[in-house]
Amino acid sequence: MKQHHNSGGKGAQAESRREPQGHGEQASEGAGKLYVVATPIGNLADISARALAILARADLIAAEDTRNTAHLLAHHGIRAKLVALHEHNEMQRAAELVARMAAGASIALVSDAGTPAISDPGALLVARARAAGIAVCPIPGANAAIAALSAAGLAAPHFLFYGFLPVKPAARRAELERLREFPYVLVFYEAPHRVVECVAALAAVLGGAREIVIARELTKVFESMHSCTLDQAEAWLAADANRQRGEFVLIVSGARAEAQEGLPAEAERVLRLLLAQLPLKQAAALAAAITGARRNELYARALALRDAGEFAGTASDKG
Ligand code: SAM
Repeated sequence: MKQHHNSGGKGAQAESRREPQGHGEQASEGAGKLYVVATPIGNLADISARALAILARADLIAAEDTRNTAHLLAHHGIRAKLVALHEHNEMQRAAELVARMAAGASIALVSDAGTPAISDPGALLVARARAAGIAVCPIPGANAAIAALSAAGLAAPHFLFYGFLPVKPAARRAELERLREFPYVLVFYEAPHRVVECVAALAAVLGGAREIVIARELTKVFESMHSCTLDQAEAWLAADANRQRGEFVLIVSGARAEAQEGLPAEAERVLRLLLAQLPLKQAAALAAAITGARRNELYARALALRDAGEFAGTASDKG
């Protein structure tokens, strides 16, 4: 590793104090290290002191997009040697980089945003380095899914990070069908030009009653988080073109038993009777008036019954 050649400051000193107790025992003798360094997902200040110190001192930084990383490094006053490692050259580049680390080089791996190897290149390099006995050290920091979850307010202890769904509608639908009964919160990444069709597919397969949190442009100027039910999400996005711009994390509540469990038996019975005769919204409203149960819960239950095919629904319920 290079001697500190810039503003690593206290972070760099802290890092060098920590290193003797680090990962040396796992590594081949004389080998360098691979540091997997998380970088910001928008706000350039969202990077740890330790990450900056590592970037300043690495012999080489392997970056998904060298121009993008050069911008981040310039912002923090770091000069470093960069090499590109992206999905198209990772296999060949991994072999070269492992050889360099085996010869003693310390390499920092970064992606365009957030944590490398999480819906990003890097996993192959990490696997090759580990297989070669080179110590791999995570330098944790920003990740879009965790940032979104932390502010989503879905009070569920477990989640499934899925990342990007398949692009083709049939494959996406098949994948969502596999996830439909999953009882945990689901976390997706989505591109702006596909976000509308993605929420439509989520509603169609998972049912309109689930809650979705649409987290957009986190840590950036136009950051927004919007919560609604899945059957409202497409219309909400369509109502303003700006709502479809930028980067998205979509968080969807898991398959739930609460609606059924929370509903008193009498409310369930009345709701089912009314659903046989009336449009969904009217049935839920009347059932609430008759039984005193909460209208929202009755509505959610009615949607779930419709989606489960337990009643045919009227023309106005098909949306
Ligand atoms: N490795 C990154 C991480 O740790 O989160 C994810 C990289 S993945 C190629 C990029 C996707 O992450 C975007 O399409 C979007 O779904 C999500 N994402 C990245 N930055 C975001 C942000 N600032 N706000 C919302 N979503 C973001």
